[in-house]
Amino acid sequence: MKNFNAYSIIDNKKNGQKLSKAEIEWFIEKFLKNEIHDYQMSALLMAMFIQGMDKDETAYLTDVMLNSGEIFKFKDPTVVDKHSTGGIGDKASFILAPIAAACGVKVPMIAGRGLGFTGGTVDKIEAIKGFNTSLSNAEFKKRLLKNGIVLMGQTPTIAPADKRIYALRDVTATIDSIPLITASIMSKKLAEGANGIVMDIKVGSGAFMKDKKNALALAKSIMATAKRFNKKSCALLTNMDQPLGCAVGHSLEIIESIETLKGKGPADLNEVSFELAAHMIYLAGLAKTPKEAMKKVQTSLQDGSALKKFREMIKNQGGDDSVVDNYAKLPLAKSKTEVLATQSGYIKMFENDLIGLACTEIGGGRKTKEDIIDFSVGFYFHKKIGDKVKKGESILTIYHHPEQKNKVQQVTKQFQKNIIKIDAKKVSKPKTIIDIVDMKKAK
Ligand code: URA
Repeated sequence: MKNFNAYSIIDNKKNGQKLSKAEIEWFIEKFLKNEIHDYQMSALLMAMFIQGMDKDETAYLTDVMLNSGEIFKFKDPTVVDKHSTGGIGDKASFILAPIAAACGVKVPMIAGRGLGFTGGTVDKIEAIKGFNTSLSNAEFKKRLLKNGIVLMGQTPTIAPADKRIYALRDVTATIDSIPLITASIMSKKLAEGANGIVMDIKVGSGAFMKDKKNALALAKSIMATAKRFNKKSCALLTNMDQPLGCAVGHSLEIIESIETLKGKGPADLNEVSFELAAHMIYLAGLAKTPKEAMKKVQTSLQDGSALKKFREMIKNQGGDDSVVDNYAKLPLAKSKTEVLATQSGYIKMFENDLIGLACTEIGGGRKTKEDIIDFSVGFYFHKKIGDKVKKGESILTIYHHPEQKNKVQQVTKQFQKNIIKIDAKKVSKPKTIIDIVDMKKAK
């Protein structure tokens, strides 16, 4: 390999020059061998953040990060996954994956744990007693091909470069860069071996992308990278100005997901989950159009095959599938406190990221990697943006333990003062799906 100089590469990027594939490869490989220090990697990340990277550089970085670890390969074109950029109350995976699997898609879910204000899919499913998310790679492949649905946690062998680089980005204010997010997400998704990827890009106060313009730019960047790696993709831009559905918290979210699979889900959660599932079915080539795929989605809900797949997934991974019929099998805190509206009017907005932090405050999230999550606590929202509310009416219920009285008082005040905004004037309901970006639109 040609020998470069770390200082010159950082300096070139700092001055806005385009990096070559050989330079990016050399830098990352030396970093992974600890021959380039964290402070040099951080300096390069900041230069990439400030100067940006074009499509070639983004693809080079993705490629190097992807090849830093193990890569699954599946010939089957029906292996299609979805990825969400993360949000509050986002439980769509538990709904769309069994729906898509019931319609013939093979869904390889390798998901993350929660840290900061967003929850993690792997933590949420572990609210179900016995559910094993630590599968071997061989078990993962076997389950996928046999059952069409499998869910496991990130392994150290998948895109290890991303793990180390992400940890540096997290503490150097370089997370919210479109090329860096693209390389981070795509290196992991490509390593999973899916032949199609449906992106759910969250937009709003509880998301990395605060506005549509940036979300669209991220969608186009991810889709351009997918295309270079010969993968089909599309992206849905979805609202994250309020929690998705009504439940926030691990057991509560599992219950809401099962209710949705039983046809009793809240409108926004139905819309996002069903549309994402339809796009997975379409990308897998199992329907000619997303509209035709949506008919299959509806059938899988009506005939119970989607719920059956969810049950099957739990059982296959060692979990207690009786939770599907008996929610008392899930840990749920016994005390409930209502958060009451302090004035009459219409719900105008939620400081959505603060909802995630409030959930962490009562034990439903991690402040450090070592923290143990309390699956039983959380929030259930009775009002959403645009809803009319009377002074003294409950906006949400807090599920907590009796000994958490003081904490709950603080969280209640936080909701009333800082999180929930009520306006006397009528507020219209926001669109749940803001845009759908297909390959044609992405150009
Ligand atoms: N999710 C990821 O996996 N990586 C990022 O950089 C941002 C969100």
